[in-house]
Amino acid sequence: MNKKNIALLGATGSIGMAALKVFRQHPDRFRLVGVAAGRQWDKLIPIIEEFKVEKVCLWDSAAAAELRKRTKAKVLEGMEGLLELVCLPEVDYVLNGLVGAIGCRPTLEAISHGKHIGLANKETMVMAGEIINAALHRNPSSRLIPIDSEHSAIFQCLAGRPVSEVEHIELTASGGPFRERPKAAFAAIRKADALKHPTWVMGEKITIDSATLMNKGLEVIEAHYLFGVAFENIKVVIHPSSIIHSFVQFRDGSLMAQLGCPDMQLPIQYAMSYPERWPLKVDRLDMAKVAKLEFFPPDIDKFPCLGLAYRAGNLGGTAPAILNAANEAVVARFLEDRAAGAPGAIGFADIPRILATVLDAAEIGQRPSLDQVIEADGWARNAAISIMDNQESAGSPALASIPAKAVRQSTAKTAER
Ligand code: MG
Repeated sequence: MNKKNIALLGATGSIGMAALKVFRQHPDRFRLVGVAAGRQWDKLIPIIEEFKVEKVCLWDSAAAAELRKRTKAKVLEGMEGLLELVCLPEVDYVLNGLVGAIGCRPTLEAISHGKHIGLANKETMVMAGEIINAALHRNPSSRLIPIDSEHSAIFQCLAGRPVSEVEHIELTASGGPFRERPKAAFAAIRKADALKHPTWVMGEKITIDSATLMNKGLEVIEAHYLFGVAFENIKVVIHPSSIIHSFVQFRDGSLMAQLGCPDMQLPIQYAMSYPERWPLKVDRLDMAKVAKLEFFPPDIDKFPCLGLAYRAGNLGGTAPAILNAANEAVVARFLEDRAAGAPGAIGFADIPRILATVLDAAEIGQRPSLDQVIEADGWARNAAISIMDNQESAGSPALASIPAKAVRQSTAKTAER
């Protein structure tokens, strides 16, 4: 059996950990040749030893220095290291489980080197969907398969059928921990409450995004670029038990769904085994025990982030990158859990308000290059931080606090496009 040589980006995160479990189930099918992580060098050491990994990358250069003292593996660092890792000639499969906007360039680099990619980093498609699709078109030997559970479900339901046969797709959302909490109680929500996700165990950033429904919003944008379905034909339905991972409504009336216990090992393995299905030890659903499946429409008034994502998606160009970057900055601040009333403190209910303010102020560039996407991303982060640092009191971010210069620079740049 020909082994797949894998570069695993985000090895110490929740996707990385699930991927390692898949590799352990199939030592005859996979060889892990490279791993990358942010700064958790100590968590990488047992992975390097167990899988005899030869090349490693850490985002953080101080962490890379620590690791170099303790391993014989070659230790790369930063974006340069990530790009070197994904285009190593011995790598034939890149599993991108990075968190956030930094995952975009490694995906693009892997495509341009004809690699096969399993994509769990949704920011890649959100920020640069058009650019990624153009790169895939130019590099037909490359292949990109989604790992996000909803998109894996849609990919599996589509089973290669063209989008012209699809009426709509429907992404399921757990609804997060605050589905039943009244909106008036949102201001009191703290980090610890928001990190209690009802069905999936994930990293902190995506767990907050699930609580605001921004995660689903980003997934709507991701689905648009992955599958070429118009935004008006991408629906969201709340399904608290996360057993159905998404639906495809075909034009002949057939509604296809993919079901399974919530376990990322399945979409991770399928992205690598496709079109085959390999054995996998994960829990099986017992439908008699499941007994009933519940669905509710999403409440956009309670969860405005979902509406913001549709708005950014319809604006197109740099708008999704702007929303994503601002959201990363705002969620990072929320996770700092500053005491209420402390300088720069934000509450859960401030998240969509700040994002709407940034989106209102943004000049959207159409058909952006990657550099322009990255520039828009930087502007949006600064704009969000500026709002949070200058708000008079929680809940009233002022447009005036966005640096006007940044807005003007952005305008000047977008005018050239
Ligand atoms: Mg998902």
